[in-house]
Amino acid sequence: MKIIKPSFTILNEIAPNDMLKNIEIYGRICYKSEGSITDTSADRFIRRIIASGHESVIEHEKLTVKIICDRGVTHELVRHRIASYSQESTRYCNYSKDKFGNELTFIMPSFWEENTAEYKKWVQTMQIIENTYNEMTSLGVTPEQARTILPNSLKTEIIVTMNLREWRHFFKLRTSPKAHPQMREIAIPMLKEFQERLPTIFSDIEIN
Ligand SMILES: Cc1cc2nc3c(=O)[nH]c(=O)nc-3n(C[C@H](O)[C@H](O)[C@H](O)COP(=O)(O)OP(=O)(O)OC[C@H]3O[C@@H](n4cnc5c(N)ncnc54)[C@H](O)[C@@H]3O)c2cc1C
Repeated sequence: MKIIKPSFTILNEIAPNDMLKNIEIYGRICYKSEGSITDTSADRFIRRIIASGHESVIEHEKLTVKIICDRGVTHELVRHRIASYSQESTRYCNYSKDKFGNELTFIMPSFWEENTAEYKKWVQTMQIIENTYNEMTSLGVTPEQARTILPNSLKTEIIVTMNLREWRHFFKLRTSPKAHPQMREIAIPMLKEFQERLPTIFSDIEIN
């Protein structure tokens, strides 16, 4: 049994300036103000259209992220409908095989310290699940049948593509203190990285 922390990687080779220049070109069609485009005009133009609520313009550009987290988090993530997803399949992956180290991988819950009774009980339960999963598959049970005993804590990998408007919507909902702590554990650092790379689009979103 392996226990890991969640993580994410932005997969686009982001050329933030190209992205912003494209958005400006597309948006200025609305006002026929293409003549106002300069080397530095995109930032101000885009901040203004976002502030005015004219956010459909930023839908023209997208970002793709690989997220490693637990299946409880991805169950919430995939509720966001204006997105594309490709996720590790518990039907096709047989974790008893050498390829997976013959073991299950779980995501460490963010809310328990390692020496607490709660954490120890969680580890004990994950171990029982792993033992049972391996026993079942060695009896000939298929992965798509054996997955019925897998928990929310199972590690999963998911590729998520959203346009910039949907990412903004996602971050507003999923960095909020009302969001699940394990969702926030991913969404907050991800928003910080987005803000660093594309401040024009994301810097106005506050993290509470
Ligand atoms: C704190 C929190 C608690 C939650 N608790 C629960 C829960 O207990 N149970 C539960 O089932 N879900 C729960 N959810 C999930 C929530 O209901 C949404 O399904 C999820 O957040 C996806 O966001 P969204 O619906 O805004 O839109 P997205 O799918 O991200 O779409 C973006 C926007 O597009 C528009 N849109 C998309 N589809 C439609 C449509 N069909 N009709 C009209 N407009 C549309 C809406 O304006 C929407 O906001 C929770 C979410 C949060 C953040």
